[in-house]
Amino acid sequence: MLPVVAIVGRPNVGKSTFFNRLIGERRAIVHDRPGITRDRHYETTDRWGDRELLLVDTGGLEPDPDTDLFKAMRMQALAAVEEADVAILLVDGRAGVTPLDSEVARLLRKSERPVLLVVNKLDTPKHEEMVHDFHGLGFDEVFALSAEHGRGVMAIMDRVLSLVPEAVETLDVEGELRIAVVGRPNIGKSTLVNQLVGEERHVVDDAPGTTMDSVDSPLDVDGQRFLLVDTAGVRRRSRISDEVEGFAVSRAIHSIERCHVTLLMIDGTEGPTEQDARLAALVINRGRALVVLVNKWDLVKEDEERNVAVVRDEFERKLPHLTWAPVLYISALTGKGTHRIFEYVRQVYAQFDQRISTSECNRFLEAALMAHSPPQRHHRPVRLNYMSQIRVRPPTFNIWCNTPEGVVEGYKRYLSNRLREIYGFEGTPIRIHFLQKRRPGDPVEED
Ligand code: GDP
Ligand code: GDP
Repeated sequence: MLPVVAIVGRPNVGKSTFFNRLIGERRAIVHDRPGITRDRHYETTDRWGDRELLLVDTGGLEPDPDTDLFKAMRMQALAAVEEADVAILLVDGRAGVTPLDSEVARLLRKSERPVLLVVNKLDTPKHEEMVHDFHGLGFDEVFALSAEHGRGVMAIMDRVLSLVPEAVETLDVEGELRIAVVGRPNIGKSTLVNQLVGEERHVVDDAPGTTMDSVDSPLDVDGQRFLLVDTAGVRRRSRISDEVEGFAVSRAIHSIERCHVTLLMIDGTEGPTEQDARLAALVINRGRALVVLVNKWDLVKEDEERNVAVVRDEFERKLPHLTWAPVLYISALTGKGTHRIFEYVRQVYAQFDQRISTSECNRFLEAALMAHSPPQRHHRPVRLNYMSQIRVRPPTFNIWCNTPEGVVEGYKRYLSNRLREIYGFEGTPIRIHFLQKRRPGDPVEED
């Protein structure tokens, strides 16, 4: 599981400066006004140790001017306590302790999860004494930081990494097809899970005293075993943490990592959004098979302006990188269309698991080259020599060539489109690696 590290703190203490430093980018502009909308509230990073971390900047919850700052801060803190493996409370060393800091500290101290107090804006060694002002907040560990200059970051991240849980291998279980349901809050995930699992089971699970540790729901459909992963999480989800986008995403990532096939739910009444596109990107990056479910179709039917053609059009415009994923129109509420989900899951799984023999790969490559040869690079030919499929789930190919950097994006796209045209691969990402061809004794070709 990807450990989640949350950065909590009132506006203007330097959360996004710290966040950007951790992910290794300098923001072009850090605005001086509190509460500025940010583009990003979560990001993974592997720069601080051997483990990848998911960072959540809870600044996403910052209020518009007319909501209560105390309330927003409480929400941030509660969501962090609930969802993060480690929480970092960031305060402004130059401003001293404020009532908001005390309030958030009070909430975080109750957490069983580790919380580090980090005093920011201590730009020089001289400033470091200011950490003492913050001992009154009641944390055992207090760190000094200058997010702007990068002082103190290593010490904090060493400590964070010592606190995150050990990596647990999520090996594939044979014979069982794992499905994850992901989508924005309120899209209909729990409604769908209940529809698929059956209301009865839902009631049983939610009865007091029933253990909820079995987070997965096993299902048997026509003799095939399926596992809906993390369903307890979907049903018990907290409204609070859903409002901090990063936490909802961290749960989605966990589920995606555990599944073979992802069901990405999209609201048919609205069409795809930015957030849907980001979830789709997560599925592709993590290399999982995908079926898109356009939900709330019962409502769409009442709308004369919207129909399958309109929605399909929106898809092609807004999610052009997803044209290979099958789309199913459903109503999780009425159950209409949902019976076909398992059939689709089975089909995309077969594609996800499809293997093409090396001789077939090379016939494919030869024909592709014949139809359209790769453009030259620096007036030198780009030669693609052999191809083989090195992995399934997802299908992954190696192509050995004289100059891997010489293969332009457009040509890579051509090859992957052609693979799809010929072999299908519907519903699965495919990967192609271009490698330098080298045999023992070969002179290294210089470009
Ligand atoms: P956020 O609202 O908590 O995300 O805070 P920002 O990251 O937007 O930073 C607020 C202001 O504090 C900006 O003007 C930053 O340049 C400034 N700031 C952030 N970190 C430091 C630091 O380590 N030292 C100093 N001197 N200023 C900082
Ligand atoms: P989640 O946050 O993704 O788990 O979403 P929920 O399953 O809690 O659903 C959010 C709301 O949308 C609930 O009020 C559901 O009854 C409603 N909803 C879910 N699916 C459908 C659907 O297919 N049609 C309609 N009309 N409402 C739906």
